[in-house]
Amino acid sequence: MIRLLYVEDNDDNAFMLQMRFEMLEGYELHVAVNGKAGIEAARTVRPDLILMDIGLPDIDGLEVTRQLKADADTRTIPIIAVTAHAMMGDREKALATGCDEFDTKPVDFDRLLGKIEACLRLCQRSGR
Ligand code: MN
Repeated sequence: MIRLLYVEDNDDNAFMLQMRFEMLEGYELHVAVNGKAGIEAARTVRPDLILMDIGLPDIDGLEVTRQLKADADTRTIPIIAVTAHAMMGDREKALATGCDEFDTKPVDFDRLLGKIEACLRLCQRSGR
């Protein structure tokens, strides 16, 4: 079972992804509704990969990423930033902050799933 953590404050977005992953076999999606809950869930759920919304009500997703990548316990968990703020430079900023990949909202499920699978394969190959 591949365990995903989705840090997302928008119920509709979280629900939509939850439905899509329920229809797939082999995935389990956990949702955290703000940055603090996301950091805690990263430590307790031990996800294989994190989907990170950038606009969160408490700590923004880039800062959450920074904190997770600075902690030896959570550093190796790949993070895909998923954001509606797809402005020029956002992708670069997310990657520079430590995100492993980037995708835009509205979510194109097949495209996102492709990125998730590619990230997981890369991690496997590098032995994380
Ligand atoms: Mn948001």
